[in-house]
Amino acid sequence: MTAEILPAIAGEILTGEADLSVASSDWGNLVHTRPGLVVRPASVTDVAVVLRFAAARGLPVAARGAGHSPYGQGQVEGGILLDMTSLPPRRVVRGDLVSVDAGARWREVLETTLPYGLVPPVLTDYLELTVGGTLVVGGIGGAAHHHGTQTDSVVELEVVTGAGEVLTCSRDSDKDLFDAVLGGLGQCGVITRATLRLIPAPARARRWKLYYDSLPAFLADQRTVVRDGRFDYVEGQLIPVDDGWRYMLEAVAYYTPPDAPDEDALLGSLDFGESEDEDTMYFDFLNRMADGEAALRAEGSWFHPHPWLNLFLPDDTVEHFVAETLAATGEPELGATGLLLLYPVRNDRLKTPLFSVPPGELSWLFCPLRAGSPDDPLHNARLLELNVDLYRKARGLGGKAYPTNALPMSTEDWRAHFGPAWPKLAEAKARYAPGNLLNPGQRLRSP
Ligand SMILES: Cc1cc2nc3c(=O)[nH]c(=O)nc-3n(C[C@H](O)[C@H](O)[C@H](O)COP(=O)(O)OP(=O)(O)OC[C@H]3O[C@@H](n4cnc5c(N)ncnc54)[C@H](O)[C@@H]3O)c2cc1C
Repeated sequence: MTAEILPAIAGEILTGEADLSVASSDWGNLVHTRPGLVVRPASVTDVAVVLRFAAARGLPVAARGAGHSPYGQGQVEGGILLDMTSLPPRRVVRGDLVSVDAGARWREVLETTLPYGLVPPVLTDYLELTVGGTLVVGGIGGAAHHHGTQTDSVVELEVVTGAGEVLTCSRDSDKDLFDAVLGGLGQCGVITRATLRLIPAPARARRWKLYYDSLPAFLADQRTVVRDGRFDYVEGQLIPVDDGWRYMLEAVAYYTPPDAPDEDALLGSLDFGESEDEDTMYFDFLNRMADGEAALRAEGSWFHPHPWLNLFLPDDTVEHFVAETLAATGEPELGATGLLLLYPVRNDRLKTPLFSVPPGELSWLFCPLRAGSPDDPLHNARLLELNVDLYRKARGLGGKAYPTNALPMSTEDWRAHFGPAWPKLAEAKARYAPGNLLNPGQRLRSP
């Protein structure tokens, strides 16, 4: 495809080898599909011009945020890739709302809101993801047991539909589009702007790492603290040790001096063994992955394949499922820099219609974040098979995917994933982005 075929736009059109090569890779480094060209839009009008042009010619288009998908979700074979990070920053705080361009990274959102003493209620563990990229999957973190997902804090979206129409939607206006875009895998339109609810930001964070030798004791304490909401943030990690596994409950209390967390009240009833704690500035806690990222980049493993899997498990299956998975997991399955996360969220906090979790009071986010091999494709293929097996097993028990995975999902898988919410998504997709041209890397086609 040549740049000349596109109508004039204010942004850049890139066809060079280096740009196409970046656009055909992602965090997963497992799928590599090459676009025909890359557009760096300079405005919403550019996005609309490209989408109208592509729709008229039957060309596929993908939006790309930070490119941190694990399995080609933001790639497009032979079509047009829209680099959303090129939209000019338009970041405004008004009252307890912030309005941002969808290509903004969550760190940049914080840099906008913190001077006002405000913050989005839920942040991802890693702040270099874009607003558009996480809103199409949900956006989850340690505050989800209080505030739901990032999509639950969205009050308004500006969306360019697959047909190239610029619409502003919310719970009160074009609600079908609003509901189909949040958690909807970018199937109905490209988000260009989002308005998010904010809450007061604390000054500091006290973080405890509580260690357990027993999986049931760890799960029981996680249930307790998520139910009573005593901490502001709760996550958990499963850590390989010489003779098996150790479990770490990560709990954080935010505060602003002269107030301070009451450690006895917070930890007194919990059944952990060893513990560690640290006290940091609030932003430093939120940005805690920055040092690790720099180290992994320096040693190279940041760029290795990442066959990551994120599942939601029902509460009554979590102990057995996790114990069985751990028994079959060693360094070959996880990789030297791999991680296993496990924490519960309260289902009554999750309000986004397309955000699918198992029924019940609690759902458990279980994430085997595997590190693959840079030079052994067969090994990576085996890790993908493990993902498929675990996903099937979880589904058989009523589990769901948290939808950003190294998994070859089919349309049928997505139909089952969305369950009762599927017909509305399919209707909205047919109405706003007919022809299955938008974000084809999600492998979701509707008739
Ligand atoms: C190191 C790391 C840590 C992570 N931590 C968390 C975490 O704590 N919590 C969590 O919830 N997730 C986490 N994730 C997963 C992450 O949220 C998803 O993979 C997310 O989709 C990536 O966002 P991105 O900006 O990189 O988007 P991309 O990978 O560029 O795109 C993701 C999908 O969104 C589409 N898209 C992108 N922008 C737009 C837009 N503006 N409009 C419409 N569609 C769009 C793309 O086409 C693609 O289908 C993590 C991922 C990594 C690599």
